[in-house]
Formats: sequence, C-alpha cells, structure tokens
Amino acid sequence: MSAQIIDGKAIAQQVESEVREMLATLSYRPGLVAVRVGSDPASEIYVRNKAKKALELGLHGTELVFDASMREAELLAEINRLNADDEVDGILVQLPLPRQIDARKIIDAIDPAKDVDGFHPVNVGRLHLGRPTLVPCTPAGVMRLIESTGIAIDGARAVVVGRSDIVGKPMAALLLQRNATVTICHSRTRDLAAATRDADILVAAVGKPLTIGADMVKSGASVIDIGMNRVGRDYADRLAHDEEKSRVLSKNGNVLIGDVDYARVRERAGWITPVPGGVGPMTIAMLMKNTLTAAQWRRR
Ligand code: NDP
Repeated sequence: MSAQIIDGKAIAQQVESEVREMLATLSYRPGLVAVRVGSDPASEIYVRNKAKKALELGLHGTELVFDASMREAELLAEINRLNADDEVDGILVQLPLPRQIDARKIIDAIDPAKDVDGFHPVNVGRLHLGRPTLVPCTPAGVMRLIESTGIAIDGARAVVVGRSDIVGKPMAALLLQRNATVTICHSRTRDLAAATRDADILVAAVGKPLTIGADMVKSGASVIDIGMNRVGRDYADRLAHDEEKSRVLSKNGNVLIGDVDYARVRERAGWITPVPGGVGPMTIAMLMKNTLTAAQWRRR
C-alpha cells in the first residue's frame, strides 16, 4: 500500500491564511528585515522569497544586501541599528556568512525578541525549557505537518536523523515536548537502520541524498524529509527506479531530492512528505507566523 502524501504546499497556505487573518486584526504592519551578506545564489533566492512572501501577506518585508567584503563590526552595527528600530519586529540573517564574520557573534547580537529564526541562545534555552519562545521555522513547520496527519505524537517513537543546531536539535526538542520518545541520530550513530526501523515518526535532516532507504523504515511510519539536495546526472542510476525524478533529471540535467528514497519509502510508509512541496513551503510560512508573534509579544 502506498503512503498518504503530506501536502506541504496546502498546509503552508493554511498557515498563511492564519497570518492574514491575524494581521487584519492589528493596527500596525509588522516588519521583517532579511539581511544577506555576499552573493551566494541559493541565499539570494531564499532571502528574496522571504521578503516577497512577507509583502504578499501584508507584512512589511525588507531585504538588506551587503557586500561580501563587509567587516564583522559593520554587520554588528547594522544589527544594533535594527534592534533599536521600533518598526522592525523580525530580523533574520541568512547563513552562511562570509568567512571574516563569526556567525555566532551575529546571532548573539540579535535582540532575542526580534530573533524570528529562533537561533539566539536565549530562545534556544527557552525552547529546551518548554517555555513560550520563537521556535526555529523548519522544525516548527514539521510539527504542523505531523499534526496535520492526525497521528498520535504522545508516546510515539520518534527518530530524528541529524543534530544541527538549526534543524535536528530543535526538532527533537519539539517532539519531546509533545511526549514522543525521541532518539537523535548523527554521523557517529553505529547502526542507523536499527534506530530508524524503530520509528513511528522518522524525520530526516541529514543533507545527503537517499540516506533513508525502504529497509530502514517501519511499515506504516510517518516519514518527514527535510533534506534538500540538488543532484546531477551522476545520480541517474541511483534514481532509475524513480520515474518522476528520472524524468526531471533527464530533462533539466539536475533534480531536487530529499534525504529519503521517496519512490521506495512511499511504498512502505503510512505518511510521507515529498521534496519539493513538503517541508520547504512550511519554513517560509512559519517565518511569517514568527514575525507576527514577535510583533505581538514585543508591542504588547
Ligand atoms: P547540517 O549539515 O548542519 O547537519 C547534518 C546532520 O546530519 C549532522 O548532524 C550530521 O551528523 C548528520 N549526518 C551526516 N551524515 C550522516 C549519516 N550518514 N548518517 C546519520 N547522520 C548523518 O545540515 P542542516 O541540519 O542545516 O540541514 C539538513 C538538511 O536539511 C539539508 O539538506 C538542508 O538543505 C535541509 N534544510 C531544509 C530546509 C527546508 O526548508 N526544507 C531548511 C533547513 C535545512 P554530525 O553532527 O555527526 O556531523
């Protein structure tokens, strides 16, 4: 039996409508500033999409772009200026930053009340203590996707593959908060398949294509694929069994795939997110929601 597909686009649209409705009740327009340093093409697209979505929903979205040679002190001064600007409710700094800038120093400098990415140590601490906070957008979006299936999170065995500060760790914290029994796996995990096969909820946040095969998934499990990997023709053989991805690959010379072997795992899982159209759209939607939350908390 084939898994039911979790439609990230549709659920992201629901979140966006919630944002629109909440915005309509406010007497001000929350402001989001997306900061980008340098000209990494992927970052360029991400930041532009974030600012565009903010405008589309009726938030005030601004993109600040600085030269790749910017010094750390200059960026810190910009952050301080945005912290002090009462019209700015959310600040996000697109990572990675150029080498001369210490990303940790920059994140630490953002006012936690405006930290809509939820990366500031104060917000990370609050998350792990189970206190209300600005939650990192991707894991927050994943929770919405899981909730949309109606499966029980309470008491479920959840396995998160990946332990990054911005995805894996907050993901595990959110699942734990909802009373899942959580295992975190990483590159040093000895028998990854033994761990993942135990999962009722399996979240892959590895950044390596086709890491999760069908033999690593429990029958009926809910599988969430956070990975986003653009692969080229050298993947043709490994994707030969996936008709859709093979078609895109042969047409465009590259294709976006997740960490999960979608075509095979779909035949075994109960629920699954596609890539694209799964977690990706949720990240931006949750960022908009965080900006609204930040505005309401700060201006209250
Ligand atoms: P990182 O590279 O920071 O973290 C990857 C994690 O995977 C690390 O904890 C690493 O372990 C672990 N890992 C690597 N190889 C293996 C392996 N063979 N077995 C088990 N674990 C392994 O990546 P991010 O967390 O930032 O991102 C993960 C993926 O999610 C990427 O593809 C990224 O593009 C995507 N992403 C998607 C978003 C979206 O909106 N859809 C948003 C953010 C990220 P260790 O710690 O031991 O090195």
